[in-house]
Order: sequence, then C-alpha cells, then structure tokens
Amino acid sequence: MAINIILAGPRGRMGSEAVKMVKNEPDFKLVACIDRKYNGQQLKDIEGLPDMNVPVYEDIDKCFKQVKADIFIDLTVPEFGYHHTKTALDNNIRPVVGTTGFTDEQIIELSQLAKAKNTGCIIAPNFAIGAVLMMKFSQMAGKYFSDVEIIEKHHDKKLDAPSGTAKKTAEMIMETRSHKNQGHPDEEETIRGSRGGEMDGMRIHSVRLPGLVAHQEVVFGSSGQTLSIKHDSLNRDSFMEGIKLSVFKVMDMNELAYGLENIL
Ligand code: NAP
Repeated sequence: MAINIILAGPRGRMGSEAVKMVKNEPDFKLVACIDRKYNGQQLKDIEGLPDMNVPVYEDIDKCFKQVKADIFIDLTVPEFGYHHTKTALDNNIRPVVGTTGFTDEQIIELSQLAKAKNTGCIIAPNFAIGAVLMMKFSQMAGKYFSDVEIIEKHHDKKLDAPSGTAKKTAEMIMETRSHKNQGHPDEEETIRGSRGGEMDGMRIHSVRLPGLVAHQEVVFGSSGQTLSIKHDSLNRDSFMEGIKLSVFKVMDMNELAYGLENIL
C-alpha cells in the first residue's frame, strides 16, 4: 500500500525537487500540498510543477482534516515549519522536516510532543548522506583536536546563519572535544564578526554567495598539522535520497530523531 504524503513548500527550491522525488517513487503518493498561495487549486495549476491533480491548501488544519495522510514533509521557513510540524504531530501524522532554523527549545518541545503522541518524527538539518558522514568524521576528529573552525558556504537566499548543519556539526564535535577558547586570549576584531560565531570556544564562519548550493569544510589544527573534512552538495538532488529514506524509516518510529545520522 502506498505511503500517503502531504508536502509543504512545493514551489521552493527543495520542495519542487521533493515533489519530483515523491512522484517518481512507486511506494509514495502525494495527496496534498501546503502553500501560502494557490489555495483551493491543484498542483498542475502552478507553473513549473508536475501535471498532477493534487489539492493545494493554505490552511494546514483544514488540510489535515480533509486529507488522510501518513507523512508530512516540511521544506518551508522556520516560523511556519515549526507550527506545521507541531500540527502534524497533533494529528498523528509523522513529520519529516528539512526546514532549518528551529531553536533548541522548539526541538525539545517537538520531541516531547512526539513522545506524548507516540508518533515518529525526523528533523534533519542536512539530508545529504555525505554531509552526515562529514559530521560523523568531524566528531571522531574532535577527540584528538581541540582547535577547530567550521566554514559553511550557502547560496545568498538562505535565511538562517549559521546553517543548521554547522550548528549540528559543532554540537557533535562538542561531545568528543575538550573545551577550549580558541585563538589568542588577547585577540581583537577590528571588523566586527571577523572571527565568526562562537560555540563552546569553536568558531563558525558563514559565507553567502549566489551560485553556491550547500558546502561545508571543518578544519582542525594542532602543532605542525591540519586536517580538513569537506562536503559539497552540488545540487538539491543530493538531499532527496535522505528524505526518501526518512519517509520509510519514520513509518516504524514512535519518537523524534534529530539528525539523519540517528536513523542510518
Ligand atoms: P525556498 O526556495 O525559499 O522555499 C521555501 C518555500 O516555502 C517557498 O516556496 C515559500 O513560498 C514557502 N513558504 C513560505 N512560507 C510558507 C507558509 N506559511 N506555508 C507554506 N509555504 C510557505 O527555500 P529552500 O531553499 O527550498 O529551503 C527550504 C528550507 O529547507 C530552508 O529552511 C532551508 O534551510 C532548508 N534546507 C534543508 C536542507 C536539508 O537537507 N535539510 C537542504 C537545503 C535546504 P514563497 O515563495 O511564497 O515565499
């Protein structure tokens, strides 16, 4: 039996790729979309999207009431993505969330809600398998190198900085690295922000340029050596295998997993 999916953000860069992925996967069926435009119309009425008779809703409560679904995929913006995810859990529909920029408090709250509802949920700041390996390898290296700087590069339409992947990488490194405030104790920024953002003494630098998709390099340094671990998403196809895998996995889960590495 097909897995019925509701997807929010079908006109977006990620959402439009995800619509194609769902359409091409024989075990999936797209049953509705959530968009803030085109309410009451069909997906085929939206320019550039596949010729599909899938209803578009602006009101997520109405959508969940009228359309029966197993999975809700969110690829929108953090403020709406959070509300969408909460509403999906309230309706016992399993969320697979790629939207980044949720606060730690929001993730804790969603995790508690998923547990209370006994409903699976996957939130992953990066659905590219290579990026997950980059994070894992960085976590391994963190045990041996206390000095590390993360340089993440994204397209200039990205709303949040640093990226969810960079934050998640720093959190994973924190589990193995001995705390250290990096750089010279007397260092001074002559241009504010030059040393990047700070997490547990580590530094994170965010580059935003047209032409980029999603790239990250984690650079470790110690006496006489450096180690660089680098991943590049060259197009948004790189995220689709992870979303597909998450849809299958979340069907058998009854709590929230944050990060693709937890389901691989
Ligand atoms: P995008 O191209 O700007 O797409 C976002 C879409 O969400 C737009 O179509 C936007 O509509 C729509 N939207 C905004 N508010 C909405 C609402 N209230 N209800 C329904 N739809 C709404 O962004 P993107 O590059 O696809 O990225 C989407 C999200 O995925 C971002 O948070 C990004 O950081 C994240 N991302 C995650 C991964 C991952 O692997 N987890 C990878 C890449 C990106 P309008 O055009 O009308 O504003």
